[in-house]
Amino acid sequence: MAEFDLIDRIRRRAVVRDDVALGIGDDAALLRPPPGRELAVATDALNAGVHFPADTAPEAIGWKALAVNLSDLAAMGATPAWCTLSLSLPEPDPAWVEALAEGLLALAARHGVSLVGGDTTRGPLSLCVTAIGHVAPGRALRRDGARDGDDIWVSGTLGDAAAALQAWERSAPVPEALRERLERPSPRIALGAALAGRAHAAIDVSDGLLADLGHVLRASGVGAELAVDALPASDALRAAVPVPQARRALQAGGGDDYELCFTAPAGVRAGIEAAAREAGVAATRIGRIVAGEGIACRDADGAPWQPPGAGYEHFGRG
Ligand code: ADP
Ligand code: MG
Repeated sequence: MAEFDLIDRIRRRAVVRDDVALGIGDDAALLRPPPGRELAVATDALNAGVHFPADTAPEAIGWKALAVNLSDLAAMGATPAWCTLSLSLPEPDPAWVEALAEGLLALAARHGVSLVGGDTTRGPLSLCVTAIGHVAPGRALRRDGARDGDDIWVSGTLGDAAAALQAWERSAPVPEALRERLERPSPRIALGAALAGRAHAAIDVSDGLLADLGHVLRASGVGAELAVDALPASDALRAAVPVPQARRALQAGGGDDYELCFTAPAGVRAGIEAAAREAGVAATRIGRIVAGEGIACRDADGAPWQPPGAGYEHFGRG
């Protein structure tokens, strides 16, 4: 199977947008960005054995490689338009590549994103996707915009993917709803776009809420109070992890959620709730931004809460 045939198999399945003057097949793609918009560019690599188990279904790998990048664009409030795929394959197995492309292109089609180029080489299994979108100048959601007094919000539910990964690592059965969240995350694009110009700051939750919120706090020069019992949990997570302390740890410290954590002034609460309804995803207030630094977590009784494990101690303020 020649490299050319593999590329052709991918190209045949891709969405074609009319702002793509030239797509796959030449030395570079030619794109026509909407006039007066800023381009937003995100790139993330996924390596077998590091970011996904080597025996993950190829459709799931393809989906996730694009999803993590679309999630980054969502966290900027950008609307995605185009992407590229750099592929390193140990063996050019056409059925495997077609399945991978199918997963990636299913998510691309859902959001009207056009695959416009890439690279295909031989090597250890690895994917690198670059996603390109656009946003109105000055309205992107940056990490450095959080202000004292802001509400802290999170979309969807937290901890599902971490619970799936934990079960998988323990060779325990992985509930289907949790596996779905690990393998096929839904980037919160509609919500992110609706928050642009409305929220003060945003980040997508990929490394765990505490770690990612910590990035916003450091960039913005502020601290946070977090209500750990307010963290939204799915029914599947409650059923799989009934012990509250274990569940909180997954929700606050686990990763791979690909939800949006954002801050906004209290005056726009109703607007944010309406935007979330419109986007078809829940938005939950989980705390507020305060002067200072670090994250003070409290439980529903107001008692200080520390995430288990020494690795997280630097987030505590007591
Ligand atoms: P070049 O040698 O000029 O880099 P390539 O043979 O690598 O050309 O690629 C030929 C065309 O196929 C280019 O338009 C490139 O963007 C596209 N392409 C290569 N690999 C992929 C891939 N995995 N997914 C999408 N497009 C690809
Ligand atoms: Mg090339």
